[in-house]
Amino acid sequence: MSGAELARIKRLSELLEQFRREYYEHDNPSVSDAVYDSLVEELRRLAKKHPGKVNPDLIGSRIGGAPQKKFAKAKHNERMMSLEDVKSVEELKDWEQRLTKNVGTTKLGGYYVELKVDGLALSLLYKNGVLTRAATRGDGEVGEEVTRNILTIHSIPFRVPTNNKLAGEFEVRGEVYLPKAAFEQLNNERAKANEPLFANPRNAAAGAVRQLDPAITASRPLAFMAYGLKHDSLQSHDQEHVELAKLGFETDRYAKKVSTLEEVIRFIEKMLDTREQLSFQVDGVVITLADKNLFTKAGTVGNHPRGAVAYKWPAEEVTTKLLDITIQVGRVGTLTPVAELEPVRVAGTTVHRATLHNADEIERKGIMIGDTVIVRKAGDIIPEIVGPVEKLRTGKERKFIFPKKCPICGSSVERKAGEVAFRCSNKRCYGSVLLQLRHFTSKPAFDVVGLGPKVVTALYDANLIREPADIFELTADEIASLERFGSLSAQNLINAINARRTVTLARFIYALGIRHVGTETAQLLSTEFGSINTLRQASQADLVNIREIGPIVGKSIHDFFQQKSHQLMIDRLLKHVTIEGVARTKKGKLSGKSIVITGTLTSMDRATAQEKARAAGADVNDSVSKKTSYLVVGDKPGSKVKKAKDFGVVILTEDEFLKLIKN
Ligand code: NAD
Repeated sequence: MSGAELARIKRLSELLEQFRREYYEHDNPSVSDAVYDSLVEELRRLAKKHPGKVNPDLIGSRIGGAPQKKFAKAKHNERMMSLEDVKSVEELKDWEQRLTKNVGTTKLGGYYVELKVDGLALSLLYKNGVLTRAATRGDGEVGEEVTRNILTIHSIPFRVPTNNKLAGEFEVRGEVYLPKAAFEQLNNERAKANEPLFANPRNAAAGAVRQLDPAITASRPLAFMAYGLKHDSLQSHDQEHVELAKLGFETDRYAKKVSTLEEVIRFIEKMLDTREQLSFQVDGVVITLADKNLFTKAGTVGNHPRGAVAYKWPAEEVTTKLLDITIQVGRVGTLTPVAELEPVRVAGTTVHRATLHNADEIERKGIMIGDTVIVRKAGDIIPEIVGPVEKLRTGKERKFIFPKKCPICGSSVERKAGEVAFRCSNKRCYGSVLLQLRHFTSKPAFDVVGLGPKVVTALYDANLIREPADIFELTADEIASLERFGSLSAQNLINAINARRTVTLARFIYALGIRHVGTETAQLLSTEFGSINTLRQASQADLVNIREIGPIVGKSIHDFFQQKSHQLMIDRLLKHVTIEGVARTKKGKLSGKSIVITGTLTSMDRATAQEKARAAGADVNDSVSKKTSYLVVGDKPGSKVKKAKDFGVVILTEDEFLKLIKN
């Protein structure tokens, strides 16, 4: 194990050296920052296990890259440092605790919070109000002299108003950046000219500044955000910002001084929501001890000051190991390859598994079992595997071979012409039939109390049910013959089944398990068609005529009802089940309102509450947005409440909701 880990250290170190060169020296990264950070994290963990085996430069001691030889060297008056990252509230609290110890007082005097602009760090020296030198950060001690290029950037003043306070020489620090819109335009133009695209605005900005020809710098609409002013007269970081603005520099308009860590956290949360709307890219929030004396007293460690940290947004990409690829049999018999991952945290959740969709996708992405893979998860989107980090291969990885037999029933696997998915050739495949039956009895469908996945499997294994209608023909004696069932519990199950002999049309449609038809679409079809027979006879054009239904869903619904086996299944079901009449009108107490229900309700389950809301004319949604009218909150509601508050959405208790629909 240890030998393998040492080999991994070597490989990771070589790769990170390469990534650093590409990023800092050539402004042309081949992986995202999140992937780079994730690999650095892994190397840090390995460094703890194998002291002395990892080059400390790679896990936090070295700043940036070597200055390019084509530029004159610029020695910094004061080292330009990097910032320690924190990624959670806990890490932020730890930082404050360490800080308190370092400066020997709990009276820290407040923090300054500001956006961390994702650009290129610059140092600007002004003497008697005139810009005398502009330099990049370089390795922190020595940067590249880029004054001529910088003079082409309009938001960097060549001459600033002199005042007594800032007499003599002072240094301005800040970030050169390319606004998002300018970045997109630049890449569009490059695409048209068949030129390679820039990976991100930061690299495009850095590439523009680090040019021998100032005309190239001038041709890109670069901007500059100032965040630091070095002059002995200034006692606090907030004062620096005030003076910078007076000098005519653009500063962060959201930045402010706060007193407590709670306020810092509130600022971070607000910025997390605001960042998408900003015209430039930010990768987090910088938190700095406002008092400069305390800041200096806190000192430095490795490549960063102790008195400031960068809170980075949760990464949406990470690296982890692909342990295996397994096969999942879907309700309609589709075999889907699934990536089994070494558990990894991404965008706030732990990911164990991710769909690989189909065999072509695995081939196209060149994924092998045992690979280090990049996992992406943006917000609430389901996680996906971006691809392997091929350079980390050891030779032990193996190619995935799609099984020729269904892993559940052993029947052969087939792929129809023109389809990407492999399917089990057995129409009655154990796997897909079981899933179909479980789906049919599940909460949003027929919701048969006591008929959960285990009992469904037991009934199936005892050859008592094969398709949905069989459930309604079960007898108490048959159920009692199952292990762990007595006559009383068997009768209870029969009663529960009988209680579901009448259902709404929406539940009936959903229960059929038509591909692409979830609860929302089932509800829509119910209101639009009003009866199962009208829906069964609908043409593909009728379906696609409904605004919310696109061609793929329309075709899937139409194909479903065309199949003889499905027609027979529905006919048999209708002998046992009555469908409640549907109110075709969408007008009701809550017409035009949209509702989201979250948490556990006490008087009914969520599906029932949603049905009631729809019956009252409301649109029911899964997530809160600006357009949401009401959020109904049950027990243990989660993050939706905060979002609703931020958007000013009316929040209702369960009782208030019931009153509202009753009125
Ligand atoms: P950093 O970017 O995390 O933080 C330090 C920098 O933040 C400062 O130098 C400063 O320029 C900037 N900054 C922006 N706004 C600021 C503000 N308001 N106050 C103070 N500073 C502010 O650290 P770093 O050492 O410059 O770079 C590390 C970053 O580079 C990581 O995000 C890493 O992912 C990325 N990187 C990526 C690759 C890759 O291959 N993709 C390779 C190497 C490094």
